Amino acid sequence: VVGGIAYSGYVLWDARHPPLQAPFDPEKKTIVILGSGWGSTSLLKSIDTDLYNVVVVSPRNYFLFTPLLPSCTVGTVDIRSIVEPTRFITRHKTREVKVFEAECTEIDPVNKTVTIADNSEIKGSVNTSTIPYDYLVIGVGATNQTFGIKGVQEHALFLKEVWDAQKIRTRLMDCIETAGFPEQAPEEIDRLLHMIVVGGGPTGVEYAAELHDFLVEDLTTWYPELAGKLKITLIEALPNVLPAFSKQLIDYTEASFKEQNITIHTKTMVKEVHDKDITIQQADGSLAKMPYGLLVWATGNTSRPVVRNLMSKFPATQKVGRGLVVDDWMRMEGSDDIYAIGDASASKYAPTAQVASQQGKYLARLFSQLALRDHLEQDIAAMTNEEEKQSKLRRLAKVRNVKPFHYSHQGSLAYIGSDKAIADLPWGSGNVASGGVATYVFWRSVYLSNLFSLRNRSLVATDWIKKNVLGRDISR
Ligand code: FAD
Ligand code: MG
Ligand code: MG
Ligand code: MG
Ligand code: MG
Repeated sequence: VVGGIAYSGYVLWDARHPPLQAPFDPEKKTIVILGSGWGSTSLLKSIDTDLYNVVVVSPRNYFLFTPLLPSCTVGTVDIRSIVEPTRFITRHKTREVKVFEAECTEIDPVNKTVTIADNSEIKGSVNTSTIPYDYLVIGVGATNQTFGIKGVQEHALFLKEVWDAQKIRTRLMDCIETAGFPEQAPEEIDRLLHMIVVGGGPTGVEYAAELHDFLVEDLTTWYPELAGKLKITLIEALPNVLPAFSKQLIDYTEASFKEQNITIHTKTMVKEVHDKDITIQQADGSLAKMPYGLLVWATGNTSRPVVRNLMSKFPATQKVGRGLVVDDWMRMEGSDDIYAIGDASASKYAPTAQVASQQGKYLARLFSQLALRDHLEQDIAAMTNEEEKQSKLRRLAKVRNVKPFHYSHQGSLAYIGSDKAIADLPWGSGNVASGGVATYVFWRSVYLSNLFSLRNRSLVATDWIKKNVLGRDISR
C-alpha cells in the first residue's frame, strides 16, 4: 500500500514537471489545430511532434471532460476536477507546441491562414493575429441549437461549457432563496421552483437526474419548507426520450423518472420563451403557458459562425448546415489541407466524445503517414539508382494508400438518477442493455477510467466520497 501511494505520488509529481522541449523547426510543415475539446485533445495526445510544428488555438486553455458536466450543475462533482490544461499535454511532447488562448474568427483557405482574436476579458495592445498553416484541423465543436425560437438565447441556460454549469448552479440557488423570501406569493413560489429542461437527449436526461438527486439528498434537509414544492419537467419534441438507446432502456428511464417525480412531456414543442414562462405546443396541437424559474436548453448542436463562414466559401461541396462535410479520411470536401473532426464535422456518426476522440487519434496516424509520404517523395526525386527507386516507389504506393477512418462503438451510457444508470453495450454481434444500480457502479468505473489524467481521477473519486459523507454544498 505504501509503495502504491508513493508510486502514485511520483506519477502525479512527474506529470507536473516535464523536461524542456526541442524548439519549432522551420523545415517542417505546420499543423494548426483549432479547439481544445475531445477531438483536438485526442489528436494532440497522439500526434508526433518530431514530424510537424503544431499550433493550438482555442478560446479556453483547457480540456473539459463533458460527460461529467451535468454533475457539476449541482455540485456532485467539482468543475476543477474535470478540466485539465492544454499545456499539460503539449508540454509533454518532444517538440514545443504553441498554444494560443484565442478564438479563430476566420479561415482563409486560399492563402492558408487563420485569423485569431483574443476575445477574453483581458486584452493586450495586440489582440488579433494571422497564423499560416500547411494543414488545418477544425475541432471547434458546435454551438447550441435553438431552432431560431424566440427568447431562447436571452432566457434559457445551456449546458456545454464550464461557465454554463456555474450559471445553472447560481440560478438554481437564487430561485430557491427567492422562493423563500418573506411573504412570497404561493404561485410565485411555484413558478420559481419549477425547473424545466428542454431536450430529452443524454444531456437533458442527466441534468434532470442530477437535479432530482440534489433535491432528494440535500434540499429536503436544508430547505424542508420549500423542497416539496420543487418540480422538474422534461420537454421533448419526439415521441420518447433518449432516441439513441434501445426501447427497453427508454421505457426503463421513463418509468424511473415517473417514480422520481420528474414529469416528461413528449411530442411537445417549445414555441416561444419569455422571461418567466414558455409557450408550448402539446401533442394534441393546443398551446399552453408553462411558468418556470430555471430553464435549461439542451436540444442539440448547430455549427459555429467560423465554420458557417468557411462553408459559404465552398458552395460546390459544402452547404451551410450542422457541420462540415468530410470524406472518409476526415478531409473537408473541397479542400486538400483542411480536416474536420468531432461535432464540427457532419458525418454518419452521432456527435459524441467517443467519435471525436477516435477521429482525433485517427488523424494523428494519418499525419504521420503523410509525413512519411512527403519524405519518400523527396528521396525518390533525388535518386539516380533505378533499382532503389523502384523499391521506394512500391513503398510510396503503400504509404499513399491511407486507410479510411473506422469508428468502433464502445456503447452508450447515461445516468438517470437515484444511483441508477443505463447502458447499451455492443457485445459480440448482439447488444446488451442494462439498467439499475449495478449499471451505475459500472457507469462510475467507466467514467473514472476514461477521465483525462490520474489527477482528474483522484479528484473525481474524492468528490464522490465527499458528496456521500458531507453532502453537496448549497452556498451559491
Ligand atoms: P468540443 O469538445 O466541444 O471542443 C470544441 C473546442 O473548440 C473547445 O475547446 C472550444 O473552446 C473550442 N472552440 C470553440 N470555438 C472556437 C473557435 N472559434 N476557434 C477555436 N476554438 C474554438 N459524448 C459522449 O460520447 N459521452 C457522453 O457521456 C457525453 N456527455 C456529454 C455531456 C454534456 C453536458 C455535453 C455538452 C456533451 C456530452 N457529450 C458526450 C458530447 C461530447 O462532449 C461532444 O460530442 C464532444 O465534446 C465533441 O468534441 P469536439 O472536439 O468536436 O468539440
Ligand atoms: Mg476539439
Ligand atoms: Mg470537450
Ligand atoms: Mg486574454
Ligand atoms: Mg433572488
